[in-house]
Amino acid sequence: MIEVEYLSKHYGSIAALDGMNFTVRPGIVTGFLGPNGAGKSTSMRVILGLDKADSGRATVNGKDYRDLAAPLHEIGALLEAKSVEGSRTARNQLRGIAATHGIGDARVDEVLHMVGLTDVAHHRLRTFSLGMSQRLGIAIALLGDPAVVMLDEPANGLDPDGIKWIRELLRGLADEGRTVFVSSHLMSEMALTADHLIVVGAGRVLADVSMSEFVSGA
Ligand code: ADP
Ligand code: ADP
Repeated sequence: MIEVEYLSKHYGSIAALDGMNFTVRPGIVTGFLGPNGAGKSTSMRVILGLDKADSGRATVNGKDYRDLAAPLHEIGALLEAKSVEGSRTARNQLRGIAATHGIGDARVDEVLHMVGLTDVAHHRLRTFSLGMSQRLGIAIALLGDPAVVMLDEPANGLDPDGIKWIRELLRGLADEGRTVFVSSHLMSEMALTADHLIVVGAGRVLADVSMSEFVSGA
């Protein structure tokens, strides 16, 4: 469960978060929908403890990560899409991250399989497309087998098959009882992915409804 209580954060005169207030429940896929600049990434960074709010509180399963980055086994996250670089192979990159978190190599191979990168695990990161980079980012998010998974615009850079694959992955994670929180600026994407929708604009929650209520206009 993620609980966000009246988060506010300003960048100069811009309110990135203006009393953001919502709860993300386990066992379903919750979509975080809003136009660019609505405050989705900022909310996620604050939840992860990578960014500080001016006021308010965010907790993950009751814990506040304000002063320490959330550990991989509590919450796994994919933040903004960017291409990976460097001469390390995908497998070595994951093994390095896993090792610093006390996670073994067997789990690395498991997550590589989950994200469909087994066949290219020995390729160097600089050869990876944006879509492959996104899959690697999702592999990192899943490394710690976290109860809470948070993905910021995971469909970015993926082709239609990749987007369908993400949807199925999110469904599986929710069915296992995990808390799944996923952002998008596209309603068309959310309609096919989410069970519950938190709609935001200008740093505030505009609607917090089940997908069926949203679609029927209730
Ligand atoms: P979203 O993820 O919904 O696109 P963001 O959380 O990235 O929205 O941004 C919310 C607002 O905060 C935007 O107006 C954005 O320009 C501003 N903002 C975000 N990060 C920074 C930053 N590091 N410095 C200045 N302004 C920022
Ligand atoms: P560092 O590289 O500073 O030693 P870590 O080993 O903790 O940090 O993290 C390695 C990589 O995993 C970094 O790219 C970091 O952004 C990412 N990371 C750290 N914590 C999380 C998390 N909870 N969810 C997803 N990625 C994370």
